[in-house]
Amino acid sequence: MKAIFNSTFTEVTNESRLMQQKLRIIQVISQNGHGITVPDICKELKISAPTGIKLVNELQEEGFLKVAGKKETLNGRKPSIYALNNVNFYALSVEVLLKRVSVGIIDSRLNTVYYRQKTDFILENTQVCLDKVESFINECLMNSGISESTILGMGIGITGRVKNSTGESLNFFNFMESPLGEYFSKIFDIPVFLNNDTRCFGQAEKIIGKARDANHAIVINLSRGLGTSLIVDNKIVNGGMGFAGELGHMQFGTKEKICICGKKGCLGNDVGGFTLEENFMEKVAEGEKTMVDIPSDGSAVRYDDILLAALEGDDLSIRLVQDMGYKLGHALGNIINLLNPELIIIGGKFAKLKDLLLDPVKTGISSSALVNPLSTCKIEFSELGDLAGLKGAGALVFDYFELIKN
Ligand SMILES: [Zn+2]
Repeated sequence: MKAIFNSTFTEVTNESRLMQQKLRIIQVISQNGHGITVPDICKELKISAPTGIKLVNELQEEGFLKVAGKKETLNGRKPSIYALNNVNFYALSVEVLLKRVSVGIIDSRLNTVYYRQKTDFILENTQVCLDKVESFINECLMNSGISESTILGMGIGITGRVKNSTGESLNFFNFMESPLGEYFSKIFDIPVFLNNDTRCFGQAEKIIGKARDANHAIVINLSRGLGTSLIVDNKIVNGGMGFAGELGHMQFGTKEKICICGKKGCLGNDVGGFTLEENFMEKVAEGEKTMVDIPSDGSAVRYDDILLAALEGDDLSIRLVQDMGYKLGHALGNIINLLNPELIIIGGKFAKLKDLLLDPVKTGISSSALVNPLSTCKIEFSELGDLAGLKGAGALVFDYFELIKN
């Protein structure tokens, strides 16, 4: 649906007011849970009857609303009751990671009806890179075959720190006058919602994944970096400004190396794919044997290959990932003491290691967690696959309109 988003980070313009009112009608009907009449809509939105009728007619033509019956009245005309035609709602979903950008069209049950990924991509804080993302989204929109009028909004999950309340990405695409969310909202003329990629992943776990029935959970996203999403009292925790969950920058680490945040001792310097590559190459340089082919051009072995080698029994790879598992577990034990979660979900590329990772994680947790909170905390692996973050980004849109369907 074409609209300028009425949010804290986009100005309301006169031209967009009717469109905003249409979005508001969808939200009101969704919150109401059953149908609603035009007079009720007019009362709720404080708009005139002709405007209410015009908006409802347009929403019906666009496939968003359907007539669900007539309201019984004591006398006079029986007004039509309008309900949502949920099957037609979609979110345009975008995931921007360090080495790939993905675009999807997601329905309100978080099914992916269209999906494409661009892997010849390096995330840089430049206009050129932002233009690449924008043109890839446009290309996908055109190729998806989905009518733009059925797309409620865009959800973006991006790596780095994100101030979700204002749509600001703090680490990437931060050179513009307006926040990234507002920038895309103006370009694509739809509401845009932004959050950190791992929090989007946590959102997907909460809605359709293993955290669906958990009130308190920790979702770990362990791939090239270490991301964490917290669920407390059944809700994703964003924190005061949107920076909650920075487990990777908590000082559980052991290395002297300075982290990208400028401090020493960050757990993210000990745990993650990038560090695995560094550790692996250090050991090879010290003369340790491995079954992994070492590139002749001096570049590092990719961490994906080290994970595969660990699964195939390479001793060096196994030792390195197990050391990481223990360090992650030791940090998680502290978080268990702090939050008393019922469930820890481990996702990301490391999740494929299963027991090879789980055993040292459990040992690490036992070294720091108190007996009582540990006794009721389950540790499981994500089963949502590679599209979890993309689905979670789409969920930002449906969550706003309260259209999430479990
Ligand atoms: Zn740090």
